[in-house]
Amino acid sequence: MNNIVGIINSTIEECSYKKIKELLELINYKPKKNKLFLKPNLVTDEPGESGVITHPKVIESICDYFLDLGYDNIVIGEGSAFFYKPHHWEYILKSCNYEYLKKRSEIKILNLEEKNIDREIYHWKYGKLKLPKIINTHEYINIPTMKTHYQTQVSLGCKNQKGLLLLKDKKMFHKKNLNDYILELNKILKPDLTIMDAIYCIEGNGPAKNPMSHSLELNLLLASTNTIALDNACCEIMGFDIEKIPYIPKVKFQSKGVAIEKVKTNFKHPTWITYFDNIGRYMAEKACSGCQIAHSQMMRKINFTEELNKKLDNLKNRYQNIYLIYGENPDLSEIPLVDDIKIMCLGNCVKKFAKKNNFPWISGCPPDYHKMIAFLLEEVME
Ligand code: SF4
Repeated sequence: MNNIVGIINSTIEECSYKKIKELLELINYKPKKNKLFLKPNLVTDEPGESGVITHPKVIESICDYFLDLGYDNIVIGEGSAFFYKPHHWEYILKSCNYEYLKKRSEIKILNLEEKNIDREIYHWKYGKLKLPKIINTHEYINIPTMKTHYQTQVSLGCKNQKGLLLLKDKKMFHKKNLNDYILELNKILKPDLTIMDAIYCIEGNGPAKNPMSHSLELNLLLASTNTIALDNACCEIMGFDIEKIPYIPKVKFQSKGVAIEKVKTNFKHPTWITYFDNIGRYMAEKACSGCQIAHSQMMRKINFTEELNKKLDNLKNRYQNIYLIYGENPDLSEIPLVDDIKIMCLGNCVKKFAKKNNFPWISGCPPDYHKMIAFLLEEVME
């Protein structure tokens, strides 16, 4: 492992096995194992052009490059935080346009949340973790996308490894200390190669789409055998001070290919509260993506249902601001207190806070989004 980071320009149309070859030759990468495991980011049901997920064309180009080298056994695997049940998984593959990859005989796609995935125990600072065996038996290629994140500021190569965890451990990471847990995870997990899909990216209140996050077209691909060096290079491109990101150690790296100065872009930095008109979604530091996705599902359902949308408008008109709070120990001082305010708490993690402050609360981990809709719109329901 060395600290060289390769950077090339590529639009999505140009992205092909030739571009991957050009990128990997820059860092002189030579795979050591004869089977391949690719770990993209498939966190939610968005198309590749959103920047939220790893674009399927990038994955296809990587597959084509390795097939050309003689590989005939390629496994793509992801453990999505919310879309873990079999029908959810099929839905996410369809929404993210990954279904066509499944039709290729040399490629297998695995839902890492399935019970039959072989896992082995890793010992780490916080005890034991069960991680998929495939990251050892296969050449492990980590393929994140370049995004901001409202809790960790950025979501890059180090953070993408969290998708290998069991769902219960993903939640535990958030509940304990997300930054330190990701830092420690990256001490025991070293991908053989990390390829960053920075063709489409997310700025603002990432990592998902919302009114305060935006897709950016950067048209870059980066690669390194050192994930931390790669994340350092990405932070420099995005305009984030690496010293302020607790889970990515600052390291010296050498970039090859496109000069970083030429592609530096000041990404909008994330904030704790995301506003949907006058409704603020406040995800406390320890909230996990389960509640984040449940919130998105609730808002999407309301937006696409005329009757519910009207009710939401009625509710919005009654208050200057409405805040929906998720996650353990939220900090009330983060909320701009106005006279005409309504605060509602959602999910098991925020129960104590809700009871203490006498705010309305709904249970669930995460709460069912249909019940969340009824809870939110209760006072304007007939
Ligand atoms: S209640 Fe929500 S934030 Fe808390 S662990 Fe469950 S899904 Fe995550």
